Amino acid sequence: MLDPTTISTLKNWPYREALDLQRSLRRRSPKSGAALLETGFGPSGLPHIGTFAEVARTTWVRQAYTMITGEPTLLYAFSDDLDGLRGIPGNMPNQAMLREHLGKPLCDTPDPFGQEESYSGYMNARLREFLDHFGFEYTFKASHQQYRGGVFNEGLERILQNYEEIRSVVLPTLSPENRQGWSPFMPICERCGKVYTTRVVETHPERGSLVYACDQDFKGVTACGHKAEAPVTNGRAKVGWKVDWALRWFTFGVNYEMYGKDLIDSAKLSARICKIMGEEPPVGMFYEMFLDQNAEKISKSRGNGMTIDQWLQYGSLESLAFFIMKKPRQASKLYFGAIPQHVDELLQQYEGFGALEGPTRLNSPLYFIHYKEVAERAGTLSYEAGLNYSTLLRLVSALNTGEREVVWDYVRRYNDKIDADRAILDVLIDSALNYYRDEILPHKVYELPDAASRPAVDQLLAWLAAYEGRDGKEIQDAAYEAGKAHGLDLRGFFRTMYRLILGEEQGPRLGTFIELYGVKETLALAEAKLAELGG
Ligand SMILES: [Zn+2]
Repeated sequence: MLDPTTISTLKNWPYREALDLQRSLRRRSPKSGAALLETGFGPSGLPHIGTFAEVARTTWVRQAYTMITGEPTLLYAFSDDLDGLRGIPGNMPNQAMLREHLGKPLCDTPDPFGQEESYSGYMNARLREFLDHFGFEYTFKASHQQYRGGVFNEGLERILQNYEEIRSVVLPTLSPENRQGWSPFMPICERCGKVYTTRVVETHPERGSLVYACDQDFKGVTACGHKAEAPVTNGRAKVGWKVDWALRWFTFGVNYEMYGKDLIDSAKLSARICKIMGEEPPVGMFYEMFLDQNAEKISKSRGNGMTIDQWLQYGSLESLAFFIMKKPRQASKLYFGAIPQHVDELLQQYEGFGALEGPTRLNSPLYFIHYKEVAERAGTLSYEAGLNYSTLLRLVSALNTGEREVVWDYVRRYNDKIDADRAILDVLIDSALNYYRDEILPHKVYELPDAASRPAVDQLLAWLAAYEGRDGKEIQDAAYEAGKAHGLDLRGFFRTMYRLILGEEQGPRLGTFIELYGVKETLALAEAKLAELGG
C-alpha cells in the first residue's frame, strides 16, 4: 500500500486507471468480494496481438491497484461462446461441415479440428494456453455455462421486465430498417438449434417467456419455420451483444473493463442498459487501435496484421509488452520495420533504470513489463552493453552471417562487461539475425563511390590502414576530416561509405560501427568490395 505523497507522484497510465477504479469502489463495495476486472474474447478465431494487449493492459491496472491499495483483484476472461457462427474463416478445415452449422452457437458447432467438444471449445482452449503461456492470472468464464447453468437468470428476467425501456435506448442507435422488430433477446431455436434464424414475436413478462419464430434465412441457411414459446432463462435465449455486456456487468458486478476505440458508443449504451437493470456499470478506458505502416486500420481480411510469433522473430516479448505499455490512447503503428526502434527504446529504459529512485522508479514502464520479477530484480534490471539493435543490425550486415556465435565473437571484443547482459543480448542478436535475413539481405545493393567522393574514401581508408587504436570517436573525427577535405556533404559521404561496405543507405555512427566491427576488418571489407565492384 502506498502513502498519499507517493501516490501523488504516480504518472503512468495504469495508476490513473487504478485510482479511477478505487474512486468508483468508494460508491459501491465490490459484489464479488474483490475489485473485479473483465476482458472479453470472441471465440470465432484464435487469440492475437489485440487479445494479448487487452489482457496485458488490464493486468497492469490490476497491478497498479494492488500497489496503491494493498487489496487483491480478480480478472474474468470471458468468452462469448454462445454467439453464433457468422462466417467461416478461409483457413479452417472442414468448410462444408461448418457451412451446415452457420447461425448456430459456437459452443454447439463441432470443432473443425476434431480435438475439442466444439468450435468454441477449441478456441477457448487455445485462449487459455495463450494466456497461461504468458503467465497471466485470470478466471476463465464461458458464456454458455453462465446462460445454461442459470447464472444469468436473474439478469435475463430483469431484461424482460424492462423490455420496453431497453428498446427505447437501443432503437435510436439502430438504422431505421433494423429498428423494426428489434429485441434484446435472440432465442435459440429448439428444433434446428440456430440463433441467427429466429425473431421474437411476443413477450410474456408475467410468465418469464417469449414466443419466437424461426423464419429468418441466414447466409444461405434456410430457417426451419418452427414457432414456439420458451422461457428467457437457462440458455433458451441469449441477448444481443451490447445487452450481453450489460448482463455480465450486472450479474458479476464488474468494476473495470477497457475496450477499443471502435466500441466507445457500444460501451456507453451497455452502461445505460446496466443502469436500467439496477446496477452501476464499471469504469474503464478506451484504447486506440493498432494501425499498419500506412496508418490504415489492421484487419484480418486485409491481412496487414502481425502475429505475436512474428513479432518474437524480430524482438523480445518484453519489447512487445513495452510497445503495448507505452501510449494506449495513441494510435500506434504495428509493423516489422518499427520493431528495432521499440527494442532500442526499451534498452534505453534498462540503461536508465538503475539511476531511478523511489517514486520515479515506480513510473518506469519496466515496473509493469517485469511485473512478476520486479520485486526481486528491480535492483538488477539493467543493460550496460551499450549496443543497440540498430548497431547490431549493421554488424550482422557487415558480417553477412546467420550464426549467433560469429556475432558473439565480435560483440565480446567490443565490451568486456558484456557477459552480464548475456540474456538480453542473446535475444537481441537472434532478433537482429532474423531481421537481417528477412528485411535487409533481400534489398542490399553495394555501390562504388562516385568520382567526386572517391578521393575522400581513399583518404579515410589510408587513415584506417595507418591507425593503431580502436576509438569510435577518433575514427568518426577522421571520417569527418576526410569528407570535409574534399568538400563533400557529410551525410552524403557517410551514405557512400555505407553503400560500399554494407550495401545499405543508412547505418549507425560510422565510428561506432568501425570500432565494433574492427578497424582492419572494415578496411579489408572495403577493399574487397572495391575490388569486387571493379573499382
Ligand atoms: Zn429453427
